[in-house]
Amino acid sequence: MAIYDDNNIFAKILKGEIPCDKVYEDDFVLAFNDITPKAPVHILLIPKGKYVSIDDFGANASAAEVKGFYAALAKIVQEKGIAETGFRSIANTGDDGGQEVPHFHVHILGGKPIGQMIS
Ligand code: 5GP
Repeated sequence: MAIYDDNNIFAKILKGEIPCDKVYEDDFVLAFNDITPKAPVHILLIPKGKYVSIDDFGANASAAEVKGFYAALAKIVQEKGIAETGFRSIANTGDDGGQEVPHFHVHILGGKPIGQMIS
């Protein structure tokens, strides 16, 4: 598992060094709109803790952080009106997973049929 890079772009967003279009924030998470949206709703949900990837988060986050993360996801999809219509959540991981930013994040995509899982 990669070592966490304190200068990755999402770390800079969390530190307030780079702006973001914030959707939701609480003690555990920050959520903001993706800069290059691939759907009418395209939100990135990130933990405030320093986790490189979903497996790092699963192995090392506290129960409160894990609960906080998924509770926030549930609130966001409810608030955005996509809980009923459906959405896709994606966590690209590592080189083969196509992860560009090495701070764990889940893409939340909705607002239209998202299409095939892998094309
Ligand atoms: P990944 O490929 O790591 O799963 O996804 C990284 C995502 O972060 C991409 O969808 C990309 O558009 C988004 N992204 C990269 N830089 C920024 C940024 O500075 N601000 C925002 N809001 N999104 C970003």
